[in-house]
Amino acid sequence: MLMIKPLLAMVIMVLASGCATERVMTGKEPSHHTSKGFKNPHLTEEDGEKSLWTVMKMRFSSDWADHESGAKQVPRVPVDMAMIENPVSMQATWIGHSTYLIQVNGVNILTDPVFSERASPVSWAGPKRYTSPAIPVEALPPIDYVVISHNHYDHLDLPSIKAIGNDPLWLVPLKNREVLESVGVTNVVELDWWETHEVGPWKFTATPVQHWSARGLSDRFDCLWAGWVAKTEGFNFYFAGDTGYNEKDFIETGERLGPFDLSLIPIGAYAPRWFMKTMHVNPEEAVNIHQDVQSRFSLAIHWGTFPLTAEEPGAPPVDLGKALQKAGLSQDEFLAVPLGSTTRLPARTPVAPPEEPLE
Ligand code: ZN
Ligand code: ZN
Repeated sequence: MLMIKPLLAMVIMVLASGCATERVMTGKEPSHHTSKGFKNPHLTEEDGEKSLWTVMKMRFSSDWADHESGAKQVPRVPVDMAMIENPVSMQATWIGHSTYLIQVNGVNILTDPVFSERASPVSWAGPKRYTSPAIPVEALPPIDYVVISHNHYDHLDLPSIKAIGNDPLWLVPLKNREVLESVGVTNVVELDWWETHEVGPWKFTATPVQHWSARGLSDRFDCLWAGWVAKTEGFNFYFAGDTGYNEKDFIETGERLGPFDLSLIPIGAYAPRWFMKTMHVNPEEAVNIHQDVQSRFSLAIHWGTFPLTAEEPGAPPVDLGKALQKAGLSQDEFLAVPLGSTTRLPARTPVAPPEEPLE
């Protein structure tokens, strides 16, 4: 049975559709563009490509944690809907995995909304979440903007996208527009790394991260992956999406667009290391990202939700604590909060109270 489930999931992945847009080469392409799609400029080809054999070796030679029974290692609190409905100037609620609701000055931003039971092209097989979303999709407040990091099923979930619909503006990396249009969502802006979209007082920028894309077996690297920066007066936000670590991308992001008031940085899906290292950071590398991008305060994502990799469900926050200590940083600077928590952030520049009129 253990063997059958992953094999079935792979067969399903072959049947699933990918993205179809073709890109025309102009001869002046950036270093992450290829004739078919995209690549990681700071990785060698062997690092980036993984054969089916290597995937099988990883899956069946690793000591895979029992996530279902390990779910109790993931702390959880009931969502305080009153806080969500009456937000203070800046607050962030962890809904699960990489899905965060960011509320700033009356604007609601969602990251990688995934509310489905499985991170899979079908509802009956594939990685099944062992912790339910902190709130159902129907309970979300009106959403203004959604940023999507890439097309893996644990980040781009078509039933959730369809349920949220066309009211928000969707910001996606290059070549991801078509998959949203397949469920009728057309209010989409597609950006390349370092491209910017301004809307009202907000400025969104897609940033380089080290990852890959695929929704089937024939579309690996076809659609771009990215992190996101959302900036407005008094608030600068960074969402690292899903990424491996290198010493270039995050330092450059910090230099060009930092410092950040709030960053969402992945801390989970890192074991076994020999397989995951190039594409998924561990907590120690997550702390490197926190420092490289010049984050004033970070919250952990990409853990405690889907059984994607070998580590114990409760391991990432423990390792994060050790990594912060090793780096000589305060534990309060980068938190792995319980599922459902709303974290309220202090305003960067406190507003001075109106002066009392002199009697
Ligand atoms: Zn991914
Ligand atoms: Zn992921």
